[in-house]
Amino acid sequence: MVAASAFRNSSWVRVTRRHPCPICGHPDWCSVSANGRIVCCMRVPTNRTTKNGGWIHHLGYPQPLTLPPPRPIEQLPKAAGEILHVTYSGLLVELGLSDWHRRNLQQRGLTDSQICELNYGPCRYPTVTSSFENL
Ligand SMILES: [Zn+2]
Repeated sequence: MVAASAFRNSSWVRVTRRHPCPICGHPDWCSVSANGRIVCCMRVPTNRTTKNGGWIHHLGYPQPLTLPPPRPIEQLPKAAGEILHVTYSGLLVELGLSDWHRRNLQQRGLTDSQICELNYGPCRYPTVTSSFENL
């Protein structure tokens, strides 16, 4: 059993119907290294096996990158500024300010009232632990 170092250190791309395995021609189960030089074919054996039961094939020449196109990401419309402000302000209050962060701000010269006024943390001083109890 040989696990090629190239196999361990590479990113692999699954073959697809559009980009079938260059060794067996099937559209599934096999993978190609991101640089297109190595194929892990699950059907055609060589003397170099992989842990997943496939076989390593060195093509000896670079192949065009066969990454499928990225899926489009659905973009939701951004909420209005007032809604974002209320939401994130509420989140900051719920998260609280840890004792470590409060001490750090105080060591940097801020008073408790400045920490409150500058929105570094809530004006009441719940601990992070007590804030999570409300969730
Ligand atoms: Zn194959």
